[in-house]
Amino acid sequence: MPSGTILVINCGSSSIKFALVDPQQPTFPLNGLAERLGSPEAALHWQQDGQKHSVAIAGADHLAALAQLLPLVQTVAGAQLAGIGHRVVHGGEHFSAASRIDALTVAAIRATAPLAPLHNPANLQGIDAALALFPDLPQVAVFDTAFHQDLPEHAYRYALPETLYREHGVRRYGFHGTSHRYVSMRAAEMAGLPVADSCWLSAHLGNGSSTCAIVNGRSRDTSMGLTPLEGLVMGTRSGDVDPNLFGHLSRTLGWSLEQTEHMLNHDSGLLGLSGLSNDMRSLEQAHAEGHPGATLAIEVFCYRLAKSLAAMGCALPQLDGLIFTGGIGENSALVRSKTVGHLKLLNLRLDPAANAACVRGASGPIGESGHPRVLVVPTNEERQIALDTLAEIAPPTPQNQG
Ligand code: ADP
Repeated sequence: MPSGTILVINCGSSSIKFALVDPQQPTFPLNGLAERLGSPEAALHWQQDGQKHSVAIAGADHLAALAQLLPLVQTVAGAQLAGIGHRVVHGGEHFSAASRIDALTVAAIRATAPLAPLHNPANLQGIDAALALFPDLPQVAVFDTAFHQDLPEHAYRYALPETLYREHGVRRYGFHGTSHRYVSMRAAEMAGLPVADSCWLSAHLGNGSSTCAIVNGRSRDTSMGLTPLEGLVMGTRSGDVDPNLFGHLSRTLGWSLEQTEHMLNHDSGLLGLSGLSNDMRSLEQAHAEGHPGATLAIEVFCYRLAKSLAAMGCALPQLDGLIFTGGIGENSALVRSKTVGHLKLLNLRLDPAANAACVRGASGPIGESGHPRVLVVPTNEERQIALDTLAEIAPPTPQNQG
């Protein structure tokens, strides 16, 4: 395993999540969040040696927040700081792997912005700020889409006129690639199987959710598409709907394109179905208290998830296991049990006691013996970004291979 400490940065439009990652260590020496950037309430929160700290940084933008972070990073990492890894959401067809940041990489990320108008410009703000503050450190972009650039054409093409693909890049890209890749490698390790000879279904279930079929370490299909709206029911995103909905709502309600797009991304999913919350924890509690909207939201979420996993099964020659990850996948025994309950045709069954025990960071098998594996594998995108960054800045040599 390559050594060195990497500062991992994940920039949103008004936030920066960060972590100092030493892949040789199981935990992060420093991690935190700068939030509400650009507003009077801007604040920096961080955790160091188990202690939580916060400081107000009223009006700070990305550059000011990173400048505030700089001395902390230097104190904790010191001379061990080997580089910076940036999470970038969309790499389009330019990037099938992590890429060292230079003028060409920045231009290519900028050129991909029309495919991710909310995410890529925010990621670029983080890159610009980090380049200004750490001009001498190597920096690497790690893309959510890169793992899926290997999909076969029959999985990534939409049944649309070819010019839309050839001239405008309209195709399925997929997201959460860093997480699906990380958990499938961990699952192979846990099962004692070589990554290069194992087949997995993976369900990353957080505020955004997606499934993935992974064969011998390569993504073969995934549920998200051109944008992260396609596929599963999510916190506030609808997932798949009939694309004619845009025309229908325009004709019947006079809704603009922006109104429908906003509704599908922000008012739908678990929130829209339940009329209560986008948060699975709150919905589980409300379901236990008999709230019909919460119950319906959980039922639709699990059924649609199972349906997607069964469909992903088409991409696998065999099934070595189903992986649950992300905040919901790692914690909700209820979601796992309802979902697997719909997958009897894949011969999947849960061990109820093991399922109940796998919460709050615990990993392990939760399937009934004699059936294909079901595993809970906590994701760790920061760690994977750090590993990819180190590999890019210090390619493995016979001396540092591990
Ligand atoms: P993000 O996609 O923003 O990284 P997370 O992976 O942290 O999100 O997942 C957030 C989701 O995980 C929320 O719906 C939250 O309610 C859910 N979650 C976290 N803990 C639990 C729990 N103990 N039981 C059920 N759901 C949980």
